[in-house]
Amino acid sequence: MAGLSRATIFAVGSELLTTTRLDTNSLIITEQLNALGIEVVSKGQIGDDRDELAAALRCALDRADLVVCCGGLGPTDDDVTREAVSVVLGRDLVEDERITARIRSRFESRGLQMPTINRRQAMVPVGARVIDNARGTAPGLWIEERDRAVLLLPGPPRELEPMLAWAAAELLAPRASGVPVVRRVVRITGRSESHTDEALQPLYRAWSQAPVPIAATILASFGQIELHLSARAGSREHAAQALETAVSEVTHVMGADVYSVDGRALEAVIGDLLVERGYRIACAESCTGGLLTSRLTDVAGSSRYVDRTIVAYANDAKIALLGVPAAVIQEHGAVSEPVAVAMAEGIRAGANVQVGVGVTGIAGPGGGTPEKPVGTVAVAAVTPEGSRSRMFRFIGDRELVKFQASQAALDMVRRILTGSTPASAPR
Ligand code: AMP
Ligand code: MG
Repeated sequence: MAGLSRATIFAVGSELLTTTRLDTNSLIITEQLNALGIEVVSKGQIGDDRDELAAALRCALDRADLVVCCGGLGPTDDDVTREAVSVVLGRDLVEDERITARIRSRFESRGLQMPTINRRQAMVPVGARVIDNARGTAPGLWIEERDRAVLLLPGPPRELEPMLAWAAAELLAPRASGVPVVRRVVRITGRSESHTDEALQPLYRAWSQAPVPIAATILASFGQIELHLSARAGSREHAAQALETAVSEVTHVMGADVYSVDGRALEAVIGDLLVERGYRIACAESCTGGLLTSRLTDVAGSSRYVDRTIVAYANDAKIALLGVPAAVIQEHGAVSEPVAVAMAEGIRAGANVQVGVGVTGIAGPGGGTPEKPVGTVAVAAVTPEGSRSRMFRFIGDRELVKFQASQAALDMVRRILTGSTPASAPR
């Protein structure tokens, strides 16, 4: 058999149809298949129901050349994957004595007798190849049927993962069509999804007609946009080269709004900029309640450059701990650019560091006024390269306003340190 190129994945288990368990196996399987150049064209979650699974399998085998099922290989009555496959492929289930012996000795090694029901796990469709399970009783199965193949793996992730790795190397790689998919992610902030899409339209058109076509997907959330690019070519290098060119075209069009082309999160980009310059940072947070610092310190090694943070909500705290002049609060209000600037300057001086950041805003749902509605946030950053401050108007609930405020603060620091223009379009 050669040329496996299209796959369907089924995660089997009624628990996966409710909110109690999330199907994570299919993500791991997808990653493995894509790395081999096998495209996942569909996937689904099916309850522990033999007829439902059989119907889904029939349909999938018409359209894909590989079907991977995970789950439903246990010893109990609700584990129906083996039976469904046997029905659909018209292959009887027969007991494989070697599997029975292996399961029995697994129990005996723990001083237990094998329950009779575990014999179910030794039932395999005629002609199936058995994949050992080092971490459990359910073996995996590989069945080839003309130019198609079915791979069955157990549900528990710690059992599935090593078996999948083995199957990928020994069974799938030699049969894969050999056209790997290569992906890159470009991260963008400071521009809305539609502005980003509009700016990228000419590139999309050119990419779809290129010798190595590039597919693009925009994933937008509040405060950031991810552009996912993928390419398939004769070789991995060829695809990677086409993507490299595409990434530089995006960077050319989007300018400083692109903050990462190598998978780094914004907080990691800031960390690298600070380390490069030998700078340390201190934050004064109202509104974000420490989120800004929490994000900065999500990066391993951030204690090299994160000095301290003061979370100051009360006016008194801003005055006493950050040295914000009472008169500034009086004149402009606690949520104002002058207060954010005074907070940034205050923490910077108090900590004796190069970079000071101040955030103050109204996260909601209460506290808004006609002039300063919920979502109004002032951000300021003071650095040796210069200082900036700005009022933002974010939409969304409390959590989203806090996130966008932290994002804007991080992005402001990034843009100052790299000498880039401020974020322009609505956020
Ligand atoms: P099973 O092989 O159906 O007996 O699965 C046993 C256990 O593995 C389930 O109770 C789940 O906790 C876990 N499991 C099954 N399927 C999945 C899946 N698709 N993703 C993550 N965990 C799973
Ligand atoms: Mg199950």
